[in-house]
Amino acid sequence: MNASGQVIVADTAVDRVNLLGLTRAQLELFFLDLGEKRFRAQQVMKWIHHRGVRDFSQMTDLSQSLREQLDRIAEITPPHIAEQQDSQDGTRKWAISVEGGSLVEAVLIPEGDRATLCVSSQVGCSLDCTFCSTGKQGFQRDLTAAEIIGQVWLAIDSYDAWQSGKGRVVTNVVMMGMGEPLLNFDNVVSAMSLMCDDLAYGLSKRKVTLSTSGVVPALDRLAEWTDVSLAVSLHAPNDALRNEIVPINRKYPISRLLESARAYLDAQTDKKRVVTIEYTLLAGVNDSVEQATELAQLLRDYPCKINLIPFNDFPNSGYTRPSGNAVSRFWQVLTDAGFVVTVRTTRGDDIDAACGQLVGEVVDRTRRSARYQAGRHEQGLLQSQE
Ligand code: SAH
Ligand code: SF4
Repeated sequence: MNASGQVIVADTAVDRVNLLGLTRAQLELFFLDLGEKRFRAQQVMKWIHHRGVRDFSQMTDLSQSLREQLDRIAEITPPHIAEQQDSQDGTRKWAISVEGGSLVEAVLIPEGDRATLCVSSQVGCSLDCTFCSTGKQGFQRDLTAAEIIGQVWLAIDSYDAWQSGKGRVVTNVVMMGMGEPLLNFDNVVSAMSLMCDDLAYGLSKRKVTLSTSGVVPALDRLAEWTDVSLAVSLHAPNDALRNEIVPINRKYPISRLLESARAYLDAQTDKKRVVTIEYTLLAGVNDSVEQATELAQLLRDYPCKINLIPFNDFPNSGYTRPSGNAVSRFWQVLTDAGFVVTVRTTRGDDIDAACGQLVGEVVDRTRRSARYQAGRHEQGLLQSQE
């Protein structure tokens, strides 16, 4: 009852804290605030991320009263799956509907004893790379940490593989779905911390990859927060061309980007690590032998491996995918120059799970509605992993 005698009914649906997206440190603070011991966080993390339990009443190592309290003030809510599709090649794709009415996507690509999950970080993207259909949609909003880590949670849940002993469902994660991860810094860092935490998904830092088109100030401070693997979306061997196809280059040119990525590596204790350079091949734009030679020159002595991504088309893209021969020629020049070069091959063709393919409609802030590109769900993701 308040001072005027009105009964106040707490709106639990609004007030509840979603524990799914809290890092270990945040969950410890949450329990300390409740007057509980720190280790409650560890117990609850195991229930959520090891056993997939969402219902507090099942958390049998917590007291009855704590379970009831959690039920009142907290929740464990993964994002909502709008659709799940399975490819004949084993690729599984989820369209996830998020608040605001848009869809984002996650794709799991199994290969041998590995399975790489491609995760989205934003609804849309503000960076407007000319060959990317996410970029063409504009930006709607950042995903929350719960919505990002929730993609890992629901991938495991969809195989009912909690404690199954079937081996890990997700062995690698790449932040290469929709959005620019470094523009959603805090939530992405929190989600990656859960990916690597033994009390959550326990992936090694080498098996989690952040891909960026070059938000240099954020990249400059990334090493303070994480040591996951880094992929840089370069796509051009010089600033004149990159200014055109990756507009953020006008603000942060190639030299600054490569310098910042190198500093990220230098901050790691493991000195053998390299940056993955992603290069989407666009016919007649950036796929000539001269450009391959220029790229080899640019990256000479740079600690990297190169991942070539033949362009995946989408309606009205204005670009085409180079021929197999053109891709091979480009690959050959770089390989002859001594680089480790992989070519991404498309997976999940029958369910449109490849780069540049479509899953749904996005309502962006400009009210433009555009087809959403699936993401970069291809074998190269696997090749770029340990
Ligand atoms: N925003 C981040 C991560 C998401 S994009 C980034 O740009 O790195 C992941 C990768 O897919 C990037 O290298 C991007 O350039 C590439 N990509 C985007 N659209 C593509 C398309 N239509 N065909 C092939 N690769 C594409
Ligand atoms: Fe955004 Fe990456 Fe697409 Fe560029 S390539 S528009 S940074 S999602």
